[in-house]
Parts: sequence; C-alpha cells; structure tokens
Amino acid sequence: MQDVDVVIVGAGLAGLTAARTLVAKGKTVTVLEARDRVGGRTEGGTIDGRPVELGGTWIGEGHDEMYALVEELGLETFPTWNKEGLLLLQLGGKQSRLAGHKGATPKLNPFALADLAQGLLRWERLARTIDPEKPWTHPKARELDGQTYESWIRRNLRTASGRAYFRIVAEALFSADAEDLSLLHALFYSRSNRDLETLISVDQGAQKDRVVGGSVLVAERLADGLDVRLGRPVATISQHDSGVTVTTRSGETHTAQQVIVTIPPTLAGRLDYDPVMPAWRDQLTQRLPAGTVVKTFATYPTPFWRDKGLNGQAISDQGPVKVTFDVSPPSGEIGVLLGFVEGGEARRWQRLPEDERRRTVLDCFARYLGPEAAKPVSYLEKNWSAEEFTRGCYGAHFGPGTWTSYGDVLREPVGRIHWAGAEYAVDWNGYMEGAVRSGRRTAEIVAGHLS
Ligand code: FAD
Repeated sequence: MQDVDVVIVGAGLAGLTAARTLVAKGKTVTVLEARDRVGGRTEGGTIDGRPVELGGTWIGEGHDEMYALVEELGLETFPTWNKEGLLLLQLGGKQSRLAGHKGATPKLNPFALADLAQGLLRWERLARTIDPEKPWTHPKARELDGQTYESWIRRNLRTASGRAYFRIVAEALFSADAEDLSLLHALFYSRSNRDLETLISVDQGAQKDRVVGGSVLVAERLADGLDVRLGRPVATISQHDSGVTVTTRSGETHTAQQVIVTIPPTLAGRLDYDPVMPAWRDQLTQRLPAGTVVKTFATYPTPFWRDKGLNGQAISDQGPVKVTFDVSPPSGEIGVLLGFVEGGEARRWQRLPEDERRRTVLDCFARYLGPEAAKPVSYLEKNWSAEEFTRGCYGAHFGPGTWTSYGDVLREPVGRIHWAGAEYAVDWNGYMEGAVRSGRRTAEIVAGHLS
C-alpha cells in the first residue's frame, strides 16, 4: 500500500496545477514543498505597504490558461501602465522616445532602422520553421544548434544599434547573454511564445496584464484544499517494484505509485536518486543552467514620469539596469519603478557592495527618468540566484548542442519519475502559462499510469 497515488515535488504553478488535475480525477496526491510558502518563482512582496511581484509578474497575449485560472479563482487583472506616455530607447548614447504599442518604430538613423527591421524579419522567418514540440527535428537543427544567438546577431545585423537591440532582447528574455544561448534554443523560445514581438510587447504581448494583489495569489488559491506540505525539501527519490519513496532532508518518507518532479532542472539534477539517474538524464540536467536576474524596485510619492510624458519603460544598452517598467499599484497612488539587472551584467553587479549596487541602479533610473528618480522613498532588491530553492531565473536555457543531443529525452520519464515545469512546456515555455500547461500535461500522462 502506498501513502498516496502521486507525490509531487514542488508547489510552484506546475506542481499545483498537476496536483489539481489529478485530484479532479479522484487521485490522491501529496505535494512536498521545500519553502515555507507556495508559488516558487512567483512570490509576493511588499514595498511601502503595497504588494509587488518579486518573481513572475505579467500575463498576456495567448496566456489563456492563466487568464482562465485567474477568473476561476476569483481574481482579477489590470493592464500594465502603457496607455499614456512614451517608451525610452537608449542605444549607442542616443536617446529616442517611441509609442509603447506593438510595432511602434524607434527613431533611429535610417541605416539602423532598416537593419533592425530586416533583422526582425529574418528572425521571424527562421523561427517560424521550428516545431516547438520537437525543435531537434528541424532539417538544419545541427547547424542552428551548433552556433550561438550571438553568432547569428553578428552575421545578420550590420549596425551597432541593431546588434545592441538584439543583445538586450537576449538579456531581457533569458537573463543570459546572447553568447550563452544556442541559436536553435533562442528560435525555439521565440516560436514557443508565438514570436519575438509578442514576447517583448505590452499591449497584445506577454507583458499585457498583472493580477490585482500579485500573481502569487494564483498559486495560493490553487493550493487551497490540496495536501501541500511546506518546509519539506526533498532529498532522495527511490524507485522499487511497487512504487516510489520520496524522502525529505529531515528523513520524512512518503510513498506513492508515481512521482512528478517540478523543480528547475539544475536542482532536479542535485537530488539523490536510487537507482541513480541514467547517463542521458544526468547529462541533460548538467547542461541546463539557470539565468541570472535581480529585480530592483524603487518607490516615489507619485509615478512622476507619467507627468513628463513617459510610461516608465526604458530599454538601454547601458547597464546595470537595461530594462525598466512602471509597476505602480492600479490606483497610481504611489510610483513604483521596476528595474531588471540581467545576464552577464547581473553576474558582475551582484558581487558589488550593497551601497554601490543601489547607487548604480538609481543612476540608471535617473538617466532614464530624470534626477527625481535618484531619491526614492524606498529601494528593494530580489536576487533569484541567491535563492536556495531556485538558484537563478527566469528559467533554464540551452547552450549549443543541448537540444540536438538531449532534446528528445527532455520530457522522458525515468521509470516512475516524471518531470514538469516551465522548462518542459511546449507552448509558452519559460512563462507561468508554460508552467501551468506543463503541469496539466504531465498529470494527464501520469493519471494513465495509475492503477
Ligand atoms: P517553480 O516556480 O520554480 O516551482 C518549483 C517549486 O519547487 C518551488 O516552489 C521550489 O521552492 C520547490 N523546490 C525546489 N527544490 C525543492 C526540493 N528539493 N524539494 C521540494 N520542493 C522544492 N513568467 C511570466 O509568465 N511572466 C513574467 O512576467 C515573469 N517574470 C519573471 C520574473 C522573475 C524575476 C522570475 C524569477 C520569473 C519570471 N517568470 C515570469 C517565470 C515564471 O515565474 C516561471 O516560469 C514559473 O513561475 C515557473 O513555475 P514552475 O512551477 O515551473 O517552477
């Protein structure tokens, strides 16, 4: 006799969705979560008494499962501040302002503009040829996987501004540098999330809406009524003829017919397995490093940039903060500015002393929005690489050769051990939507294995 039908490791969106799907089918499930909270890479924080999302924030175009969950769970969304004001683009020391809507044209010199337009066209044409379910089956998979996204940038963009723009996109989407990424992976990711423009846009894009009160409420409400055990870091998973035994660091054991592991791949590779993982699975998890991202927040008495005709969004090739957003509460009663420090920039910057980190971030805010930005009421940082049970965000990325060597076994179970999470999603990979879809898909498969 097993304790339950299925043990799920991790109470992020994938784990909780998997649990809910199985419970709805009448199966018994226990979710073991290492942290003392649910939500994983979605986390609620407060700054000046107002809720902010320390992790996953926006839902947008095509994130149908997330919108459906929000509604089902009695939550609401509100639009990201984008309806008024212009976005700031700083490339090569030149600053231009452009409308925040999809397809808006930056005021670059005609050469840079033509370069960028052609680069985007070439990118989309190539990305459309990738099957997100099986990127390794592309006729030119080895060629595409044998080079980096950076190599493609160098070959396909002629101007410094065009290249800088594509590199910022790499940092903003993967919290990694263009040279860290397999070209095939970057194309897959773009395709999995519809297209590059959807990924970087607000209206009709991935940054369209926020959940009132914070995205973590989705996880908290999903967990209601489920058997979720907090503070239970799983250490070992043993498989035997009749089932699996999952043991926590403190020695607590849980038995089940099947187990679903929903923790980021790098961390999944650090668990102890008995018998040990086959070579292919261990080699795969060795090759899926997490990105590096720190979210920085500053608050102000008002979102003062709105009065200057700015929408709080900035894109720049000068760090450490290269992307900002207005994440003020829906009422706009105070101003909250979010700045991302990502990729190689974050790897260096996170080692600076605290006062220097703060100063360099506020210097960026002031460069974008004016001197008022240098004197916030409050300042906050959240470094996801420092989190023991995440160790980097937004998710794992594939370097050259990984998709073609191990892509076909990414979602392959090992005996009674199944995998789910944002990294395993076919559609909306890397996003909350992908985590939910992956959790549901894996639960459907696991349900078919239960007696
Ligand atoms: P996780 O949320 O990582 O869940 C895994 C769970 O496993 C965690 O709760 C963890 O604590 C637990 N765990 C780890 N180790 C163990 C162990 N040994 N034993 C038991 N439990 C363990 N997505 C969007 O859609 N929109 C955004 O705007 C967005 N922005 C982001 C910004 C940041 C800064 C970050 C960090 C992420 C962002 N994402 C965004 C990505 C999104 O948050 C994730 O893709 C999604 O939440 C991942 O869910 P998951 O269930 O796959 O994994």
